[in-house]
Amino acid sequence: MGAVRLHPDWRYVNGDTLFNRFTLEVRGCTDRERAYIESVESGDPVDDPEVRRRLREESIITESEDPDSLLPEYEQRAKRTDDIDVHRIRFYVTERCNMGCPGCFVRFKYRNDEDFQNSDKRKAERTVDFLREENEGDSFQIHFLGGEPLIGFELIEHTVSYAEEVCEETDPEFSLTTNATIVTEEIAEYLDEKDFTVGVSFDGDEELNDQSRMYMDDSGTYEDAVEGFELLKEHMDDGVGILVTPQPLNIDVLSDVTEKLVDRLDPDGLTINDPFHSDGTWEVDGRKFAEELKPIVELCEREKIPLISPLSQVLKALGRKEPKVQTLTTQERNFSCAVSVDGRICYHIMNYDEELFPNPIEEQSDERFEQWATYSGYQHEECRNCIALNTCGGPDPIESYYGTGHVDELELNPERCKFYKHMTGWVASKLSDAEAELDPA
Ligand code: SF4
Repeated sequence: MGAVRLHPDWRYVNGDTLFNRFTLEVRGCTDRERAYIESVESGDPVDDPEVRRRLREESIITESEDPDSLLPEYEQRAKRTDDIDVHRIRFYVTERCNMGCPGCFVRFKYRNDEDFQNSDKRKAERTVDFLREENEGDSFQIHFLGGEPLIGFELIEHTVSYAEEVCEETDPEFSLTTNATIVTEEIAEYLDEKDFTVGVSFDGDEELNDQSRMYMDDSGTYEDAVEGFELLKEHMDDGVGILVTPQPLNIDVLSDVTEKLVDRLDPDGLTINDPFHSDGTWEVDGRKFAEELKPIVELCEREKIPLISPLSQVLKALGRKEPKVQTLTTQERNFSCAVSVDGRICYHIMNYDEELFPNPIEEQSDERFEQWATYSGYQHEECRNCIALNTCGGPDPIESYYGTGHVDELELNPERCKFYKHMTGWVASKLSDAEAELDPA
């Protein structure tokens, strides 16, 4: 027997909550339990036999040098590939864009007079065939992206028609990210008819947006994007959202500008993207991002707007008590890929790098797929001991790749880690407060 300590499966967060990082159980503490646990954490336990007995019975504290842990059981789950489906593909329609935002490859290519590539009907059809075979009668999703995907509107129409023709047994779902500056009435009506979900990109209110989202002549795009957004809203019953990407330009005011955008545009949904990343880390402070996201969560709760953000996986895991044991696979065992303009498949949805698009979609590699599907925190010593092991899912291979140039061994993104560790504690604490309100006894 060793000294009494918190069991390694449990964490004590925010001075009021106990959290099991495998089962995702949350448990509030009485004042006496709090005092006892804090004394245990400080290495000098107070003498309170009753609390000590209770916490031992619940396996929250231990005196064993080598206590039983759920880690080996969950580690086995993280290695499974047997029932994973590629459920969603991000299909790059074209590299062309009518805008030229600083930092985007479009502006670089334009300035350097390089050719832009477009996808084509054959690649679109192969993508639909692949998803149809993967999902065997179940629904699947295609997300169209560019450049500006509406430049390739005819290819989008062809993809949808082909999917309707060959997928008699199921209704595929379609979505699109657009800058909204070339939307027409005809396009808006079509997107409505086909039940698209549309995300219109903004980087902030007019002043901020126009510093980073601009035409090739450097003029701002905000008013044109607002006009396009309103045209979509006018013609679509539902599904017109906005999409904001955290970056150094807007991170200090992210919640303020998001609120202004919501006030002005009244979107059907809000997406806060993962922040821009370079050299293996986010370009914004992970803790700052967490603090800015909290009021946005409250805004969306108040206005009843569905929110998608990096926090969603934490909320889903803790809300349903369903651990996220793999980085790229959802709890429903769904996996997302991308298909480049030249028809190669990437085993990650967020990518635009030739090194990581190794196979034509017809030659999908099971070996590579299994490597990507089983990335998890269980492969990294720091993750194995982390509060967010089963809410964050582990290091992101794309971010790691951009830091190290390979994906053989994943590296941690320090800002992403700050975000997930803090948010996991925050959500656990909020849930324990909510449970205490429901059951004051
Ligand atoms: S937050 Fe960081 S250390 Fe923790 S599980 Fe995620 S990647 Fe690993």
